[in-house]
Amino acid sequence: MSDFVWCHGPRCHTSHTQDRIRGVKGSKVLRTKKVKQYSNHINMYSYFCSQGCYNDFANTYVSEVIALHPRTEALETPIDVVKEQATDYFGHPYTNTKIITVDNNGG
Ligand SMILES: [Zn+2]
Repeated sequence: MSDFVWCHGPRCHTSHTQDRIRGVKGSKVLRTKKVKQYSNHINMYSYFCSQGCYNDFANTYVSEVIALHPRTEALETPIDVVKEQATDYFGHPYTNTKIITVDNNGG
């Protein structure tokens, strides 16, 4: 099993960088970069060599990705809004508004 994948950026092979150059004089190419795989740590950098390649992929295939995981209704997080009186560095009072997530599943 290989320990790398090719970067999924659709234009990775067009970036003019020294580390993408392959081949011999007269038949050189810019090649898609390899991305090393770590079995215990999977995130976007497991498939893309850079933020730019990730953005290129996301912008090119956003319609297909959204079709796989459509959002058909809004999500909500239960909260409490708490207003607290506090004083600033100079001793002037002010109201601090805190948004606290309410855990309805824990009891
Ligand atoms: Zn790339």
